[in-house]
Amino acid sequence: MNAAAPARPEPDPLPQHVRVLVIGAGFAGIGAAVTLTRDGQEVLVLERADDVGGTWRDNTYPGCACDVQSDLYCFSFAPNPAWTRTFAPQREILAYLHDVVRRFKVGHLIRCGVAVTAARWDEPTARWHVSTTLGDLTADVLVSGAGGLNEPKLPNVPGIDTFTGQVFHSARWDPSIDLRGRDVAVVGTGASAIQIVPSIAESVASLVLFQRTAAWVLPRRDKAVPGWKRRLFALVPFVQKVSRALLYLTHEITVLGFVWRPFILRAAERMGRAHLRNQVSDPHLRAVLTPTYHAGCKRVLLSDDYYPALSRHTSEVVPSALATVEGDTLIAEDGTKRRVDALILATGFEVSDLPVARMITGKDGRTLHDVWAVDGMQALRGSTVHGFPNLFFLVGPNTGLGHSSMVHVIESQLAYLRDALRTMDERGCAAIEATDSAQQAWNADVRRHMARTIWTTGGCSSWYQDAAGRVTVLWPGSTLRLRRETRRLDPAEYTLTPAAAVTRRTDRHGSEQVDGPIDGLADGLVDGLTGTGARP
Ligand SMILES: Cc1cc2nc3c(=O)[nH]c(=O)nc-3n(C[C@H](O)[C@H](O)[C@H](O)COP(=O)(O)OP(=O)(O)OC[C@H]3O[C@@H](n4cnc5c(N)ncnc54)[C@H](O)[C@@H]3O)c2cc1C
Repeated sequence: MNAAAPARPEPDPLPQHVRVLVIGAGFAGIGAAVTLTRDGQEVLVLERADDVGGTWRDNTYPGCACDVQSDLYCFSFAPNPAWTRTFAPQREILAYLHDVVRRFKVGHLIRCGVAVTAARWDEPTARWHVSTTLGDLTADVLVSGAGGLNEPKLPNVPGIDTFTGQVFHSARWDPSIDLRGRDVAVVGTGASAIQIVPSIAESVASLVLFQRTAAWVLPRRDKAVPGWKRRLFALVPFVQKVSRALLYLTHEITVLGFVWRPFILRAAERMGRAHLRNQVSDPHLRAVLTPTYHAGCKRVLLSDDYYPALSRHTSEVVPSALATVEGDTLIAEDGTKRRVDALILATGFEVSDLPVARMITGKDGRTLHDVWAVDGMQALRGSTVHGFPNLFFLVGPNTGLGHSSMVHVIESQLAYLRDALRTMDERGCAAIEATDSAQQAWNADVRRHMARTIWTTGGCSSWYQDAAGRVTVLWPGSTLRLRRETRRLDPAEYTLTPAAAVTRRTDRHGSEQVDGPIDGLADGLVDGLTGTGARP
């Protein structure tokens, strides 16, 4: 008889109420825990997975690494002198995030293995009622750090469920699968595919890449960081700060090509063509790998070993999308058939149809998904949405980047969130809600700027665009401008509901009860607090 498995201890219940509830413990959620705690805010972070790390926990495929230099792709308040490479591998970035949690002592604020399943704004109590896999709780403020690139997008390929080999998405890599000596297909030519292809090309029997669109690929120049440099950075942190500032400026300058004068990116196209010429001698393969749209329209990729991997005699590029699967055979749109043992879907993520939007219900009973279905994802300053009081996004609509580190964006949005909480505390507000007019004006401005960017004019279709062709993912400006725009919350863009309009009393069991807004008084106080009142 089998010995009974030891019973897992019951997890501690969640508190009944928290001031700030954050969904997700990736860069955004961890950053929120660190910075809000410093401000003395009460924070709870719920993470559905068993560990923190987000992107860097989920993406364990061979070759996974950042594509913005690590000295820039980390928190400004937590530099890491120990990066071993210019572009750190996934394991190091995950270890860095664990270290940040440890260093800033926020581990006890993060509950892993608890998924938020629904959140509903309750107008009378001015609180979020949140359901989780570990029970319900309420929160004054709800912060989505649920990420934009963590819900795998699976292609709708007829017959894929009949595939007789192994099939998996790049973000759900199965470490038990041994691809050595197997016939393997990769679908996709984005940032994940160009890291996977070189990492497996040598060990598989054959590799076939299904390419709908060729990518612009530039030299990566990844290097090991010499020991003396790491020691110097550890000893004199200022030197690493200067190095980071230079990296930041180098990236920032390129934004001019993306958002202002796309012709500037022709220099990148020349570099990309030269890179292709230098690395691929076969003219047919070169032609297949030459992009037919302007550089920057899709994400520009960095690699020194992607082209050499595709030039191997065991590799093949099918210049066509995967159309059908029949048993062990993959059939491309152009009719090419290939039999394979394993199929890797490097097909990206659900970016403009965020799963978290389906679980958040606002003031008028509609979900964020339903609201955004009308005119695309949008938020005031990428952070707040009319009809959804006390809800803040980190990495919200139109805050993604094509040219620099997303951690910079996260820190900008954290500054905005902190100022919002400060404003609420100082003004004694129970609720803060973006006005419709401020949100409309912000989005009109975003769309006006977006119209001249390479993402709109570059002649491609990309994951930056939603089903209607709107670019709702990216920020059409510099990170400096985004930082300026999110430095302070402007109360004139918000309706503030004073705490005095929501009366709460404690019942005999110790829980808070709410009587609801006091008619008339509430309206008067709202009028008094909104508008252009001077900051205290
Ligand atoms: C392979 C890859 C490489 C990348 N490389 C770079 C790079 O080099 N530079 C760069 O700037 N950006 C890069 N990015 C983008 C990257 O996603 C961001 O830089 C950053 O990691 C986003 O952090 P986040 O915390 O917002 O989201 P995530 O890291 O996605 O974390 C979100 C977390 O929320 C959790 N969550 C979601 N829903 C729920 C729920 N309902 N309940 C509880 N928890 C939930 C998820 O499990 C996850 O842990 C890369 C992305 C990928 C996929």
